[in-house]
Amino acid sequence: MKIRTRIALVSTLATAAIFAGVVVLVMVFSSSNRESEFFRTLYDEAVTKANLFFSGTVDAATMHEIYLNNRETIDEVEVAIYDGSGTLIYHDDHEIDLVKETPEMLREIRAGGLLEFYEGRYQVVGLVYDHAGESYIVTAAAYDGYGLSKLAALRTFLLSVFIVALLLLYIAGNWIAGKALSPVKGIVDQVGDITGSRLGRRLPAGNPADELGELSAAFNGMLDRLERSFEAQSRFLSNISHELRTPLSALRAELEIAMLKERTPEEYREYIGRASEDAASIESLSAGLLDLARAGSDSSRISMKEVRIDEALLDARAVVIRANPGYEADIIFGPDEDDERTVTVRGNSYLLYTAFANLIGNNCKYSPDRTSTVTLSHYGDRLQIRFSDTGTGIPRGELDRIFEPFYRGADSAAVKGHGIGLTLAKTIIELHGGTIEVSSQQGEGTVFIVSIPYI
Ligand code: ADP
Repeated sequence: MKIRTRIALVSTLATAAIFAGVVVLVMVFSSSNRESEFFRTLYDEAVTKANLFFSGTVDAATMHEIYLNNRETIDEVEVAIYDGSGTLIYHDDHEIDLVKETPEMLREIRAGGLLEFYEGRYQVVGLVYDHAGESYIVTAAAYDGYGLSKLAALRTFLLSVFIVALLLLYIAGNWIAGKALSPVKGIVDQVGDITGSRLGRRLPAGNPADELGELSAAFNGMLDRLERSFEAQSRFLSNISHELRTPLSALRAELEIAMLKERTPEEYREYIGRASEDAASIESLSAGLLDLARAGSDSSRISMKEVRIDEALLDARAVVIRANPGYEADIIFGPDEDDERTVTVRGNSYLLYTAFANLIGNNCKYSPDRTSTVTLSHYGDRLQIRFSDTGTGIPRGELDRIFEPFYRGADSAAVKGHGIGLTLAKTIIELHGGTIEVSSQQGEGTVFIVSIPYI
């Protein structure tokens, strides 16, 4: 069922339920009002006829005649009067006799002073009437044809209004829902036009204060993010192919030159050494890309356990120094960092070690003394690791871009690298709920500050 029809139906049903409740209340109120009013009329009629009877101004025969005449035109009240012993002393008409008064009924009226009840479709009032020191019982009975027909007319009227109102409500609800939802149709048509190759398209903003405006804004926000990630992906791919092509072309050129003519063993060794360097560059790039893929994958699929940061740092230092003779790294622990708890985080030891190795490697790579100083301390519930050097520093204009994949500083051409080390470190640290910040002064040095929550 379409939302439009559902809204129209639900709103009609809700209003119908309220309307039906009001109709029932009106009917119940009118019905009980009619009943009590008619009992009061019967009471007044009983007293009036008893007054007439006992005052003697109108004789019984005239009263019979008035009753019979009125009965032809209106639902005349039939009155009966009993004396103290229960003997009938007056009756409007024996032959019609709407109420069969029993001795028990008369006793009940005498005991209660007033009795109101139904005899078939007739309403009956029984009351005690005192006259000249004697206590009489007067009963009055009649059918409230007028009141009941008024009630039936009211019921028919309310029911007809109810049915017509339901119909009008449904038509109006359908129209209002259609009007309210018509912009959605426009959105659906425009969304259908957006494809992978037309990601630059946006939905019209509409009214930003209403829900559809919010929907358009949220959708446009999603498209912005998608477009950025599509662009980043295609930039990433072209960067990878460029980074791979450079050492591969160099490798091929080295080998082709080596084969141009007969070489001495020394020359062959030199060419093979350079070819091996190019192969190592390709290897390190593919290893870095593999790590990036691992760190960027679904975090729930990465195995996380308790990892001691001091151990991961010592491992990273050992590997960096072994791979790069001449590099140095000092690890300084703060005063409280011998407490096992404050140096333990929940994470993946391989990924953390990879991030630290990149940061230590960068410190050494970009400083003339090839030294990294790593300081471990903690603030509140976070462990802080500072990787500092006294090297070239990073120009202010590059600070915002160094974490982008394949971004390399303008002065890095002479330094080996592929521009993915910091992207990898940042992805890994964020995967562990941490942050990485950089502070650098050109010519003075650089500090990367990593902060990770400890257990
Ligand atoms: P790579 O080192 O392979 O170029 P990274 O992603 O590790 O790639 O670093 C990106 C850029 O950030 C580097 O090219 C360099 O310009 C700059 N950079 C990173 N670390 C340092 C550092 N410790 N000192 C100076 N510049 C740095």
